Amino acid sequence: MFRWFASKFIKHWDETDRPEVRMACGQMASALSIGSNVLLCALKLATGLAAGSVAVVADGVNNLSDAASNIISLIGFRLGSRPADAEHPYGHGRYEYLAGLMVAVLILAAGLELLKSSVERVLHPAAPEFSWAMAAALAASILVKLWMMAFNLQAGRQIASRTLTATAMDSRNDAIATSVVLLGMAAAHFTGADLDGWLGLGVAAFVLHSGFTLVRDTLDPLIGRKPEPEVIDAIRERILACPGVLSTHDLMLHDYGPGQRFASAHVEMAEEDGLTACHAALVALSREFLEKDGLHIVFQLDPVSKADTEENRLRTHVSRRAKLIDQRVTVHDLSLTRAGESVTVRFDCYIPADVEIPEPELRRVLENIVREQYQAADCAITIDRDYMAPPH
Ligand SMILES: [Zn+2]
Ligand SMILES: [Zn+2]
Repeated sequence: MFRWFASKFIKHWDETDRPEVRMACGQMASALSIGSNVLLCALKLATGLAAGSVAVVADGVNNLSDAASNIISLIGFRLGSRPADAEHPYGHGRYEYLAGLMVAVLILAAGLELLKSSVERVLHPAAPEFSWAMAAALAASILVKLWMMAFNLQAGRQIASRTLTATAMDSRNDAIATSVVLLGMAAAHFTGADLDGWLGLGVAAFVLHSGFTLVRDTLDPLIGRKPEPEVIDAIRERILACPGVLSTHDLMLHDYGPGQRFASAHVEMAEEDGLTACHAALVALSREFLEKDGLHIVFQLDPVSKADTEENRLRTHVSRRAKLIDQRVTVHDLSLTRAGESVTVRFDCYIPADVEIPEPELRRVLENIVREQYQAADCAITIDRDYMAPPH
C-alpha cells in the first residue's frame, strides 16, 4: 500500500538512504494522516455535538490532536533532513525528536481537557441521543484508522522512522478506542444505560496515556539514551570480525537522529602486525561502517605485544587475579610509569553491570592486586561497567 503510493508520487522512492527520498516518504505519510484525521474529526464533532455525546466529541478531539501531531512530524521531517551547516555540524536530525516532544505536550493538554468534561458528564449525566449518522461516523473512523496503521507501519519500516511507527501505534490505539465508544453507544441505545460520561473518561485516559508515552520516547534520545543492546553487540561483533583485531573496548555511540550516528572505539591489535598494516585495516573497517550503516566511527589503536615487558607481566597478573571476581572481568589500557622512586599504574577494568560489588570495594581489591607486585604503587583505575563506556 505504501509502496503503491510511494512509487506513484516519489522519484527514486526505494532509495531510502537518500535524505531527500526519506524526507519525501515521511512527508507523504504525514500529509495523508493529516487529511484523514481532519476528516474524521469533522465527522465526529458534527455528529457528536448534534447528539450531545461527550464521548464522541472526545474521540473527535483525539483525532484533532493526532492531526496536530502529524503536522509537527511533517515539519520535523522537513527540518530534520536539512543537511549539516556551519553551526550544526551533526545535521538537524534531532528536530524529529523535538517535533515529537511538542506533539506530546499538545496531546497531554487535550487529554486533560477531555478528562474535565467527562468528569462533569459523569457527575451531571445527560444521555445523548442515539443517531445512526454518529454510529456510521464511528464505524468509518475505525476502518480509516486501521488503514492508517498499516500504511504508517510499512512507511516507518521502509525509512526506519520512529515517528511513523509511533503514528501507526497511535492509529491502532485510536481504532480500539473508537470501537469501545461505538460498542458503548450501541449498548446504551439498546439497554437504556447512560454510559456517555464513563466512555468519555476512558477515551481521555487513553489520550493522556499516549501523551505520556510519547514524552518518554522522544525525550530519551534528546537527552542521550543508552542504545539498544543489540545495536552495541552488532557493532562489537563487526569490529571483532575484522582481521587482526584482538579485542575492543570503550565503545561510545552518539545519536543525532536518523542517519547521523557517530561512534568511537578502542581496538587492540598486535604490535608485531606493524603500524601501517593495522592502520590500513582500521581505515577499511571505518569506511565499511560508513557505507553500510551510515555510522561515522573513529578507532583508537591500542597496540599489545607478546614481548616480556614489565607492563605485560603486570597486565597478565592483574587480568588473571581480577578473573577471580568474575570470569568476564577484563583489563585494558594498562600503563606503568616511573618518576624517581614512585610508580604509577593506570588501567581500565571492565566489569559487567550485573556483578554486584560496590565500586570502592572493587577499587580496593584491584589496588591490592597491583600492590602484590608493586608495593608502593599509585593506582589510577577507571571502572567500565558496560561496553558502552562513559567518557574517560
Ligand atoms: Zn575503558
Ligand atoms: Zn583502550
